[in-house]
Amino acid sequence: MNTVKPLQHFIHGHLVRGAGSRWGEVFNPASGQLTARVPLASADETRSAIAAAAAALPGWSDTPALRRARILFKFRELLERHIDELAAILTAEHGKVLADAKGEIIRGMEVVEFACGIPQLLKGEYSDQIGGGIDSWSLRQPVGVCAGITPFNFPVMVPMWMFPVALACGNTFVLKPSERDPSASLFIAELLAQADLPKGVFNVVHGDKEAVDTLLTDPRVAAVSFVGSTPIAEYIYSTGAAHGKRVQALGGAKNHLVVMPDADLEQAVEALIGAAYGSAGERCMAISVAVAVGDVGDQLVAALGKRARSLKVGPGTEPAMEMGPLVTRQHLEKVRAYVDLGVEEGAELVVDGRALRVAGHEDGYFLGGCLFDHVTPEMRIYREEIFGPVLCIVRVPDFAAAIGLINAHEYGNGVAVFTRSGNTAREFVRRIEVGMVGINVPIPVPMAFHSFGGWKRSLFGDHAVHGPDGVHFYTRLKTATGRWPQDIPSSASFVMPTH
Ligand code: NAD
Repeated sequence: MNTVKPLQHFIHGHLVRGAGSRWGEVFNPASGQLTARVPLASADETRSAIAAAAAALPGWSDTPALRRARILFKFRELLERHIDELAAILTAEHGKVLADAKGEIIRGMEVVEFACGIPQLLKGEYSDQIGGGIDSWSLRQPVGVCAGITPFNFPVMVPMWMFPVALACGNTFVLKPSERDPSASLFIAELLAQADLPKGVFNVVHGDKEAVDTLLTDPRVAAVSFVGSTPIAEYIYSTGAAHGKRVQALGGAKNHLVVMPDADLEQAVEALIGAAYGSAGERCMAISVAVAVGDVGDQLVAALGKRARSLKVGPGTEPAMEMGPLVTRQHLEKVRAYVDLGVEEGAELVVDGRALRVAGHEDGYFLGGCLFDHVTPEMRIYREEIFGPVLCIVRVPDFAAAIGLINAHEYGNGVAVFTRSGNTAREFVRRIEVGMVGINVPIPVPMAFHSFGGWKRSLFGDHAVHGPDGVHFYTRLKTATGRWPQDIPSSASFVMPTH
């Protein structure tokens, strides 16, 4: 007998049972236990969520921005009140430690706080007397029904990069969360309903490619925001654009941290350990490559090795833990296979986390921190995104070689340099071809009032998420020119008006 709970969609303000025959499985990664089944929406079910969002659009887009903001204020208060419950849901399905889960929720809440200022952000521009008796002004209007397709690694924060700004701008929304940890999105939908968001303005449809393809091709969807792996991001971008949609698609990453010979080594080591192994390396801004410049390599490897061997790995619910399990058994196997590959490719495995066993959690998806030295740019463990607790060290002779190495990589999401030299830092910021740069800061995630986005194959489209780019993405620019006729010449004019 199966007592595993079936999850539901959230459409037009109600939980809706999955009507199709396709279901996915959700596990607790710390125990390996099956905890829920998630319905994988058919095209018809997805269309019913789009229809709900389309029906809610006229009323919501006409609602004054200040009133929309007030609902977001309430939502923010509810999030704060329920942060422990939401963090527990997150840890139970994703595996990250509870303190990190709360951190993720707070980073998402900051986008809600940003969106609460929407009346200010939507103020247009006005030019008086652009010609005789003529004025001109610009305004930004909602784009329409927006879709969000999100990855497993931030089941709260990544959707909150999107929908608070989209809703504040007057759009309605269909969220297709990751099928691996889908419960947090339903909790969020309930909180939005409690905050008095009108029915149909925010909908959640669970699913896989079938749901995503429906969102990408349905003519009622005007804009698609995606965060996930690069091959899917590229597919989302090209398919959505071919169907006339505005698309922002954030992809994968391979983030480097450059340790200059003049860096404070202790700071650099602590920064690397947190940024490489936090959330088991399942962060798009995780550092997966340390670039040791000049003669800093030996000391760096020795210090990192010592610290990586003593990482506290266990269930995310235990407060002393620094790192939880990987998200699924398949992902654990994939990351393990990369460690095997690194050894085959000839990198030196200084710390091997493959033998780790967590007592009492033998079926959990745990992998200890792994550290590779003497990694070279041709190796697949350097070129490809592993998305696990595996840190690679590449040794380079000088600063120019570090810049050249990073700029040649296909990804350009985040990067950092550790140095005591202002000039080195300044040159680094100017010359590096990466979207988000840290100076003695390992994970330079922009705050909600700036925009988040990488370069190269880490982002397809021309808008980053949240901040000013988010407001631009979720609005269309309209520019009006007008006069109130008094002594207008009655003859037709056949030339371009000039002033
Ligand atoms: P993923 O690409 O497997 O899945 C992301 C979303 O796409 C999910 O909702 C999934 O259901 C859907 N999807 C998967 N396969 C699909 C297909 N064939 N057709 C249509 N839709 C499909 O990514 P993931 O494993 O959930 O997340 C990890 C990835 O996300 C990593 O590559 C990570 O770097 C990236 N990520 C990037 C950022 C960023 O800001 N650039 C942030 C977080 C995560």
